[in-house]
Amino acid sequence: MAHVPAPGPLEAIFRVFRERCRGCASGRMTMQTFIRATMADENGRRYPAAFAFFSCDRCGLRRKKNVGQPDEAVSDGEWARWVERRSIDDR
Ligand SMILES: [Zn+2]
Repeated sequence: MAHVPAPGPLEAIFRVFRERCRGCASGRMTMQTFIRATMADENGRRYPAAFAFFSCDRCGLRRKKNVGQPDEAVSDGEWARWVERRSIDDR
């Protein structure tokens, strides 16, 4: 089994953040993975970022959410890269 680091405060917040799904009437968004990354702004300055991927437990709607920002749609490519890679590693 892959090593899984203890969740930090941000991850812990996302883990309990179960927003109502906007795609169906009764689903809840469940966190699938949590990513920490270094991003670069338009001036090339690097900054740490953290974002979480969610899917609906009913209809499978996928969303991602950055800290302090509204949630966004997720492409199939992003989901495969960030979420499915993680699940393969954990086998
Ligand atoms: Zn849903």
